[in-house]
Amino acid sequence: ALQCGIVGLPNVGKSTLFNALSNAKAEAANFPFCTIEPNVGVVTVPDHRLKTLEELVKPQKVLPTVIEFVDIAGLVKGASKGEGLGNKFLANIREVDAIVHVIRCFEDDNVVHVAGNVDPLFDKEVIDTELQLKDLESVNKKIIRIEKIAKSGDGKAKKELEILNKFKTGLEEGKNARAIDVEEEELEAIRDIHLLTIKPVLYVANVDESSIISGNEYVEQLRENVKSENAEVITLCAAIESQIAEFEDPEEKEMFLSEYGLEESGLNKMIRAGYELLNLITYFTAGPQEVRAWTIKKGWKAPAAAGVIHTDFERGFIKSEVIKLSDYEKFKTESACRENGKIAIEGKDYVVEDGDIMHFRFNV
Ligand code: GDP
Repeated sequence: ALQCGIVGLPNVGKSTLFNALSNAKAEAANFPFCTIEPNVGVVTVPDHRLKTLEELVKPQKVLPTVIEFVDIAGLVKGASKGEGLGNKFLANIREVDAIVHVIRCFEDDNVVHVAGNVDPLFDKEVIDTELQLKDLESVNKKIIRIEKIAKSGDGKAKKELEILNKFKTGLEEGKNARAIDVEEEELEAIRDIHLLTIKPVLYVANVDESSIISGNEYVEQLRENVKSENAEVITLCAAIESQIAEFEDPEEKEMFLSEYGLEESGLNKMIRAGYELLNLITYFTAGPQEVRAWTIKKGWKAPAAAGVIHTDFERGFIKSEVIKLSDYEKFKTESACRENGKIAIEGKDYVVEDGDIMHFRFNV
């Protein structure tokens, strides 16, 4: 499964959030949150379409899709120079697909702030700087490696050097790599050095109870600040999330949420945002045995999508039958969809769409 790493300064609410995730009573009983390692948790991606399909198909079981969250605690000033367990944490970040950066936007005199007072931009900058310094190190290493080749007149190396220098300059100016303006194809020059600050990021503004709906000045500062980055900001209150996670009864949970004027839990918002951040979409398989959600990247063609189920499906791919969920809802059964010409036969060039109900035909 794809992984989102949760980072942030100490005392911003990371563990509270991670624990809420691990206590959340999963909506589908087949996939309770499970902790693989103390700091890694698997969580189901909430998707109301599964409920719709379940009611229509009445399968023996329903399997939602999942993503993983990793609690990467302990990132402090000096990490890039190897202070504390700095290098270990940075190595953890290198392994994740996306970053969830938790930022303290709540005031509470009982919770010590590492820098003395609540200041989201300062907090963000401390973390960003450590990651940028590490990236700068990677970029400089590669520059040294290819400088000679470029000098010997190698055109490709020259071009790469130019791009690397753009990143060097940007990082030195305190920009995250994702905010540096380069062409899509120029990214090839830095792909092999796996920069940390180029990973997609979701900022989670952890606010106090009274600000979950209205937001507050800290959240505004943060939103303004990340405008130039390709990033999203969501607001939640970790303290409330840990309470919400306790409810097993969906109705009680909904009542609790509505008391705060919330439509869904912040965790759900965060999980869905993480999914989008990773550019993921879902297709379904549906039969009397099971209804199941499968995760693919946006833009994948049918054979690659089939490969998520089994590599044989991809290798021996012949064709796929595709039903749109809206048709399934309208005609209620697969055979009725067939009678009404609502099953499309698609070949290997079909780009799977979010919500497609797929049935693959393959050779073994
Ligand atoms: P971490 O170091 O980032 O993992 O932070 P923790 O999750 O351990 O939280 C640090 C302290 O802040 C704990 O005492 C939490 O109870 C408190 N805390 C976390 N989230 C909130 C919140 O939303 N509101 C308030 N008032 N306190 C919170």
